[in-house]
Amino acid sequence: MYGEKKQQVTINCGVCNEPHTFFVDREDVSNAIADKSKPLRDWCVDREGKTYLTPEQCELLCTATCWNCWKVLCPDDDKAYN
Ligand SMILES: [Zn+2]
Repeated sequence: MYGEKKQQVTINCGVCNEPHTFFVDREDVSNAIADKSKPLRDWCVDREGKTYLTPEQCELLCTATCWNCWKVLCPDDDKAYN
């Protein structure tokens, strides 16, 4: 919990098949899968309640789509982050 037991994970993008490696607390991800009352990024938070995942990492965990492919698939969403 609270990103205190972060482990390295590698997720292959389902679109371009590129592997992406980063650190996440698997407990937080398990909680997010078990309880969908709030989104993954709201589970993956530190003790101050701030998410420790980047939008890119959230997208990989939620949809197995890397940021490059996400930008191609959803060009409108890209503007929201600029
Ligand atoms: Zn990709």
